Amino acid sequence: LLAPDGSVAQTIFAEMTALAVRSGAINLGQGFPDVDGPGYVKEAAKAAIDAGRNQYAPGDGVPELRRAVADHQRRHYGLDVDPDTEVLVTTGATEALTASILALAGPGDEVITLEPFYDSHAAAVAMSGATHVPVPLTTDDLRLDADALRAAVSPRTRMIVVNTPHNPTGTVLTRAELEQVAAVAREADAIVLTDEVYEHLVFDDAAHVPLATLPGMADRTLTVSSSGKTFSLTGWKVGWVHGPAHLVTAVRTVKQFLSYSSGAPFQPAIAAALADDETPRALAASLASRRDLLCDGLAAAGFDVVVPQGTYFVIADGARLGFDDGHDLCYRLPELAGVVAVPVSAFCRAGSATSDALRSRVRFTFVKREDVLRDAVGRLARLA
Ligand code: PMP
Ligand code: GLN
Repeated sequence: LLAPDGSVAQTIFAEMTALAVRSGAINLGQGFPDVDGPGYVKEAAKAAIDAGRNQYAPGDGVPELRRAVADHQRRHYGLDVDPDTEVLVTTGATEALTASILALAGPGDEVITLEPFYDSHAAAVAMSGATHVPVPLTTDDLRLDADALRAAVSPRTRMIVVNTPHNPTGTVLTRAELEQVAAVAREADAIVLTDEVYEHLVFDDAAHVPLATLPGMADRTLTVSSSGKTFSLTGWKVGWVHGPAHLVTAVRTVKQFLSYSSGAPFQPAIAAALADDETPRALAASLASRRDLLCDGLAAAGFDVVVPQGTYFVIADGARLGFDDGHDLCYRLPELAGVVAVPVSAFCRAGSATSDALRSRVRFTFVKREDVLRDAVGRLARLA
């Protein structure tokens, strides 16, 4: 977690957002929407503040939000979740992930992630003292390599971290791919921690399959999600984790000493939002067309893109434009084109084979207004 000179390393998202602010470039780096979620959800939070819900919420979350999470999982996926013992409300998915890893993995354990991985997964493994074992996705189409996953398992494998829809690639794992993960987890007797924050942001005919719905997996799976992406309220940091009571109890024990409890007035507002299936459906449809706009623009500018099936993100390869190093490209892009992106190497272990293989790739977000994306695409055309 420390930079080589001993200073505290900033996340790549903070670093690139600061670069966008400094340079005045369009920020297609950090993934956050430039249009807020629904007004009625904001009004519900204001009403909760006015109603005096301003002191500590219960440590495991307000009952109506735990019930709303359980209802959501039943309605969308047929999962049977007990809101009293199997759900924990957290400060964003980030806290759910970190508390889960700290609770269940430690020195001597190995934690597998797919590489590239979301940065906080690796940071949490490092904080836990466990050994991080990254398993590369295939480099051509950025999908699960089941043989590589199987080869990474050892008697010390404690946990497999999955993220679908996947940041930074936009890959949505198919049921068949998830069955391969599940088979490996069962054989290794490993816990699965699945990060499903983009569960509703899937495009075309891709479908989100929660790992916990696969046969025999509910008992060994912790499922993490958050309202940030689903309701375009990333700053509210209302997340949750659910799973079998014994695992959730362990996570709750750690969460007590990370934050004790999470933002009280936001919780009833998100409980109300979780009954709304239309807002995320409309967001996914509009994101799919914004994805097309950005992918077409990147291709026209000379990038090679792997069209994503979900999330906020697309990965583009700058090699054909003569940019072999994505990190370098991201630092030059504000000056060359007035746009900010994030290098894919930031989602890889420093110096890993995957980092090398994906060296010329950069990640752009398309969760911006259409006019902003049109402006960005126009600027990127300068590179061609
Ligand atoms: N996991 C993934 C894959 C993410 O992309 C993000 C946020 N961008 C998070 C977790 C964190 O979610 P939250 O803001 O709810 O903590
Ligand atoms: N998850 C967002 C992204 O991938 C950013 C969140 C953050 O800044 N930590 O861009």
